Amino acid sequence: MQFQELNLSKDILKAIIEHGYTSPTPIQQQSIPAILNGGDLLAAAQTGTGKTAGFTLPVLQRLLESPLQQTSRRRQVRALILTPTRELAAQVHASVLTYGKHTPLKSTVIFGGVGANPQIKAIQSGIDILVATPGRLLDLMGQGAISLNQIEILVLDEADRMLDMGFLRDIKKILAALPKQRQNLLFSATFSSEIKALANDLLNSPALIEVARSNSTNDAITQVIHPVDRGSKHPLLAHLIKSNQWQQVLVFTRTKHGANKLVLQLEKDGISAMAIHGNKSQTARTKALADFKAGKIITLVATDIAARGIDIDQLPHVVNYDLPNVPEDYVHRIGRTGRAGSNGVAVSLVCVDEHVMLKDIERLIKQTLPREVIAGFEPDPHAVAQPIQLRSQQAPQRHAQARHSAAAPKGANQTKRSGQKKPSGESTAAPKKTHRKNPSQKPTKPLGSFTSKPKNV
Ligand code: AMP
Repeated sequence: MQFQELNLSKDILKAIIEHGYTSPTPIQQQSIPAILNGGDLLAAAQTGTGKTAGFTLPVLQRLLESPLQQTSRRRQVRALILTPTRELAAQVHASVLTYGKHTPLKSTVIFGGVGANPQIKAIQSGIDILVATPGRLLDLMGQGAISLNQIEILVLDEADRMLDMGFLRDIKKILAALPKQRQNLLFSATFSSEIKALANDLLNSPALIEVARSNSTNDAITQVIHPVDRGSKHPLLAHLIKSNQWQQVLVFTRTKHGANKLVLQLEKDGISAMAIHGNKSQTARTKALADFKAGKIITLVATDIAARGIDIDQLPHVVNYDLPNVPEDYVHRIGRTGRAGSNGVAVSLVCVDEHVMLKDIERLIKQTLPREVIAGFEPDPHAVAQPIQLRSQQAPQRHAQARHSAAAPKGANQTKRSGQKKPSGESTAAPKKTHRKNPSQKPTKPLGSFTSKPKNV
């Protein structure tokens, strides 16, 4: 299928061609016609599938098509795109700018951690599309700096992460300020009972789109496990980067402290590195990401939430310095590489403490990953496992209960209209599993019952 067959305006097609896309990805083939139809949409899609263009292109097209119903003289926001993180907001807005550059539509992005005044000015200059994180949007709504009563289209991007990060209450407050008559598009990688409840409240007879199994890994990614001793992970990583002359590596650590420590160690080895996590200022996060994308630093060390949605074209290497607490995060992490047709390598450094985690991951992805011991870094066969310090000791437990993935049968690529308000039948996989320090320790709170952001990621 070609983009030309999708009823997009020539101004949008021109931008797509200039951006170098030749054909729509599977999710775009389904989401673009579904959104242009004007109905609500529930899409099971992860980053890496092309979902951003999957909603941005038809949102631009619909705004171009529908006449302005504005009552006031100033342009008011007609499409609102909510994202969980600042980085994702910035990336989504970059897509809006890219695909909309030949159209007269105006847009801006707002998020916390930076001054509000330029954002208020941008909004008040009159915009059609607003990309926002929930917290800053509520702040500006509270100050009366923005009116949402002309919203025609609402997009919730990575809705599962928004709930994981405790944004449910904020989202509900925002929804209450929107006009009742509007188009709603909900994108989520997984479907917990909270997401289903939100979809149920929000969506009216949504079209359902599911692209591939959410827990399958991409064949374009070569995965390998390097067994190693706990204390040798850092020298092994430095060895891999140097001996293979890796130029751009995204490294995941379990904790913010671990990320900071690793950056210092790598710098001592002469390997440029920066960390990106929730304790870093927005300026530091933006700079780290920009320097990494521009090739100024070789290593970006990230925690899971900070890295969510980071979109780097053709990122060649992802390293799991620590395995993730939640098996599904393995799939999310390694999905940063091997995107949209390019090849990638995902390396995991696994010590004796993480063998149970590795088994859980392999069970989830239904693959046994190849083990390759690196000469000089052979693990001690007599090493004894120690308990892993989970990052969420004080923080709310993510993925705590009955978290279901939006698994469709392998290879399923279908669009169907549910014909009823309640979207059903999209969740068939086993509940998500967390690696717990003590197997008898039960999660204390159901997902979504907390209201603050996780503190320790
Ligand atoms: P997303 O899932 O939106 O984060 O997009 C993942 C990556 O796919 C991004 O790097 C996009 O630039 C790229 N991409 C999106 N749509 C296409 C397309 N139709 N052809 C090639 N690459 C694409």
